[in-house]
Amino acid sequence: MYDIIIVGAGPAGLTAALYALRANKKVLVLEAKTYGGQIVNASKVENYPGVKSISGFDYAKVLYEQVKDLGADFKFETVVRIDEEKNVITSKNTYQAKAIILATGAENRKLRLENEENLIGKGVSYCATCDGNFYKNKVVAVVGGGNTALEDAVYLSNIASKVYLIHRRDSFRGEETYVDELRKQENVEYILNANIVKINGEDKIESIDVKNIDGNIQTIVIDGLFIAVGQEPKNEIFKNIIEIDKNGYIISEDGVHTSQKGIYVAGDARVKTLRQLTTAVSDGAIAATTAIKEMR
Ligand code: NAP
Repeated sequence: MYDIIIVGAGPAGLTAALYALRANKKVLVLEAKTYGGQIVNASKVENYPGVKSISGFDYAKVLYEQVKDLGADFKFETVVRIDEEKNVITSKNTYQAKAIILATGAENRKLRLENEENLIGKGVSYCATCDGNFYKNKVVAVVGGGNTALEDAVYLSNIASKVYLIHRRDSFRGEETYVDELRKQENVEYILNANIVKINGEDKIESIDVKNIDGNIQTIVIDGLFIAVGQEPKNEIFKNIIEIDKNGYIISEDGVHTSQKGIYVAGDARVKTLRQLTTAVSDGAIAATTAIKEMR
């Protein structure tokens, strides 16, 4: 029996663990993949107060070690369900706690094109900082118009010989600082008001078909495609026990309680206006302190 089970080892979940451990609680962190969540994909984090610049991977590593050293139990198992008795059931075991914090974050949205899944690792990637180095002096495309796409395009422009940035509108959703940085890169070509309609290649990516608003399709030969079109939550498995909205995010009136007593939420998994590292760690701290207060 644990005091708190935290589902998800991203910044929100790890911060919740940090606060709970410092309050002498027995904590289990369940994570399906590896620690760090999406921040590991950020080449540089430069908007975290008090830290001028750090790679997302380094940030996650320090946070994980900090929590591990404080004595958290980590199990890298996939949670499949929480039952009516609030047992947390993974693919391997069943766990119990006085409180549960859901910090499941979100995962990369797919373009949902026919060949996309087949070519993952064969030219299709969702992580420029993980795979960018394979494309030294090669031609790559980035799709998306948010901070991730802009950041990825800047990062890749320093590695690849050419970067196409493909976005479905004529303006970017991402911050001006990234847009300015990108404009300085001479090997970036913008393809705006356009969508990728086909990924070509069998054993590896060969080209993409891009359709503009006039309906014209051009084929662009590339070595790699970096898809950065946002994230989607993964809370379907919890809908038997808590309320989630039509987009899959966990509904919380006050940003910490779910619709089920004893189950709390933190980070990108919940309905919120700003999904950032700062707001994720803030959520984690609030979720843990609230859970501790209410379990007394
Ligand atoms: P995002 O802000 O949701 O942007 C997703 C982009 O993909 C949008 O430009 C969107 O187009 C486009 N898009 C969505 N679905 C598409 C589809 N099916 N086909 C083509 N384009 C599609 O996602 P994100 O860039 O991953 O950022 C997520 C969050 O993390 C944001 O809050 C962001 O600020 C934050 N973040 C912060 C940093 C940092 O501060 N260092 C770095 C990375 C991310 P529309 O604009 O037309 O909707």
